[in-house]
Amino acid sequence: MYSSFSEKDPFSPVNYNYSDIIEIHNEDSEFQQIQVFEHPFFGRILALDGVTQLTTKDEFFYHEMLVHPAMFTHPKPQQVIIIGGGDGGSVREVLKHPYVESVTLVEMDMKVIEVCQKFFPKISESINDPKVQIISQDGLKFLQNDSFAFDVAIVDSTDPIGPAKDLFSEYFYALIDKNLDTDGIFVTQSESLLFHLPHVTRVQQNLKNLFALSFCYTQALSTYAGNWWTFSIASKRFDPRQVSRKVQGEFRYYSPEVHMKAFLPDSIQDALVSGKLDW
Ligand code: SAM
Repeated sequence: MYSSFSEKDPFSPVNYNYSDIIEIHNEDSEFQQIQVFEHPFFGRILALDGVTQLTTKDEFFYHEMLVHPAMFTHPKPQQVIIIGGGDGGSVREVLKHPYVESVTLVEMDMKVIEVCQKFFPKISESINDPKVQIISQDGLKFLQNDSFAFDVAIVDSTDPIGPAKDLFSEYFYALIDKNLDTDGIFVTQSESLLFHLPHVTRVQQNLKNLFALSFCYTQALSTYAGNWWTFSIASKRFDPRQVSRKVQGEFRYYSPEVHMKAFLPDSIQDALVSGKLDW
């Protein structure tokens, strides 16, 4: 039975409406509503609390651009943590790197993993790789309770208005800093540069206070409200604007040229961090 799906995105001044869509799954987990849809153009769509998280049509733009700039900046990424990312897309991309020995996936909602294993097998299948350890916990609590030395830390969370809110605080970034190895690199999805400019500014300022090098890079993502999506990356040693080793692997979009051209021009980066961007 065809119907329409109108996003309910409280963090965005616009909500997308999908017509000719069929809902094929809908349940409430302990943390959020989980819906899966079929759409003639976007394929399958995952929505959490009424907000589109991924579509099988275009998820690779997001997952490749979230994961590979950090992974190709690090000369030998072996221990990786992903916070959020229950759909498995970021895990799939991390496992394309031959140096990787372990991926710690800290996803607070096991129901998301379960639903994605059933309805998005091509995206979620990597989660079953023996290198992957799944931790069902809040990412901040996980880092508070133990100490690690990750080479790369990735936050692939929902918007900073629900349980993901704490994953965008300076306190959380200090925890990340403490749990990264000496050459560690951190990256997070950090919302839309137009719709969420104050949020992106805060994230960039928080990272600049803690890390030797921190930058913002962007990628057009058609299915996220605001489209002009940002990723905030911070590094203890290696400049994330440079690719540190030969790029090998199967990517549908990422390349060294895409990597380097994704970063904001210096003038905009400086204005962003100093809070002078005004649009
Ligand atoms: N690609 C999406 C985006 O950029 O909006 C993110 C998709 S992924 C499914 C988001 C995941 O983050 C969800 O499964 C959610 O349960 C998880 N999550 C949110 N807050 C979290 C937290 N504090 N700790 C661990 N996982 C969290």
